[in-house]
Amino acid sequence: MKTTLDEIVSLCKRRGFAFPGSDIYGGFANSYTYGPYGTALKRNLKDLWWKLHVEQLDNIVGIDGDIILHPRTWEASGHTATFNDLLVDNKDSKKRYRADHLIEDQTGIDVEGMTPAEVTAVMAEHEIKCPVSGSTNWTEVRHFNMMFQTEMAKTGDGAMAYLRPETAQAIFLEYKNIIDTMRVTLPFGVGQIGKAFRNEITPGNFLFRRLEFEQMEIEYFVREDAWEEAFAQWQGRIKRWCEIIGLSNERLHWAEHADEKLSHYSKRTVDVEYEFPFGKKELYGLAYRTDYDLKQHAEHSGKKLIYRDPHTNEVLVPHVIEPSFGVDRSVLALLCDAYAEETLPDGSTRTVMRLAPVVAPVKVAVFPLMKKDGLPEKAHEVVAELRALGVVEYDQSGAIGKRYRRHDEIGTPVCVTVDYDTLEDGTVTVRDRDTMAQERIALGALREHLAGKYFVTPSL
Ligand code: ATP
Repeated sequence: MKTTLDEIVSLCKRRGFAFPGSDIYGGFANSYTYGPYGTALKRNLKDLWWKLHVEQLDNIVGIDGDIILHPRTWEASGHTATFNDLLVDNKDSKKRYRADHLIEDQTGIDVEGMTPAEVTAVMAEHEIKCPVSGSTNWTEVRHFNMMFQTEMAKTGDGAMAYLRPETAQAIFLEYKNIIDTMRVTLPFGVGQIGKAFRNEITPGNFLFRRLEFEQMEIEYFVREDAWEEAFAQWQGRIKRWCEIIGLSNERLHWAEHADEKLSHYSKRTVDVEYEFPFGKKELYGLAYRTDYDLKQHAEHSGKKLIYRDPHTNEVLVPHVIEPSFGVDRSVLALLCDAYAEETLPDGSTRTVMRLAPVVAPVKVAVFPLMKKDGLPEKAHEVVAELRALGVVEYDQSGAIGKRYRRHDEIGTPVCVTVDYDTLEDGTVTVRDRDTMAQERIALGALREHLAGKYFVTPSL
């Protein structure tokens, strides 16, 4: 049976992955708080991404830039002028919509690239209706800039600033510093993980479209004639990344942007789409940004943003390939992919999160069979022994079957139970989440057994 978004949302709340944000005040603008397990899952993803893409690849370095950058950044990047959505208000319901989404939902027509006046005409021609009031009584369609503005205490140039709508720009601003301080030669990349903010008109679908979210991005600098090769290489790496974190290949699709849908800076963009419960939607993006950003910042700042070949002294402006990974959409895709409801041979059902061990919030759960006779003490020794594998959770409350079910729902790959035999012969029961098969393993061999079976470090 197909998983619904409601099932995911409810499990997230029930099991501490994500709570509706500011809930005690009635909730706020599609905000969510990652609970303890969601936070662990997200951190595992980000740490793994950094390890695989920044630490373990040649010629990639990392930076950590500010959320509030010089406002001229966004003039140079083109965001002030063009980072707009098409907004329309219904005069009867007073509801606000993205005109392109309304039209696409009701007619299938794609209005990307059209002017607000043209979109207004399409709305009228196709009698687009307000989903709430049912009326066609609309304002004119107009542009709405999606950058969040914020006011600084200081006055003058830069008093009005923006929260960054993408992490990429800080990398371009530091291009010269990287070239001057690091021994990088083309091709090389600069990676960054951080928050980005977008004033989305209609946020929604849980963690999918948020006002604040996290991105993991790399700006990969290449010679112009090498961009196609680098683009293909990054497609391969993205594919491998999806496999490592455990997304089903058959739910992933590559979608090429048509020329008229390309962003103002891009000559080629391919999205990785994932089959979410609410449809096939963008998960990640891979864009060829040309030399647009470096040239724009060079022009606006008056600084030279160039590359000098150390062997030939040739001077050039590098071109850029940008793989962009959304953290929150990764978390949502992982939860949707991992979620399963199963009927067991005895007729009962269980919910299980088949998360890849590398991202699972809890790596191993350890249970004493009973809360007495020295079993808790022995179980605590096992916890200490297994800590090197990552988060190990001790749980002694309730029937053993209930404890297994709880960890099935959290996605814990393996549970270890300490029982009376453990005290006699030094073995424990190891229970696999997916097969529910149980085996007895000697305590002396336990850590190595689990490390080899579940926790082998992947590489790109
Ligand atoms: P969409 O068309 O869905 O709005 P986009 O094309 O604007 O997305 P990009 O500008 O390519 O998105 O951003 C790069 C990545 O950042 C996306 O692939 C996605 O994972 C993530 N992302 C973008 N906007 C949001 C958002 N509002 N909430 C959560 N993640 C987002």
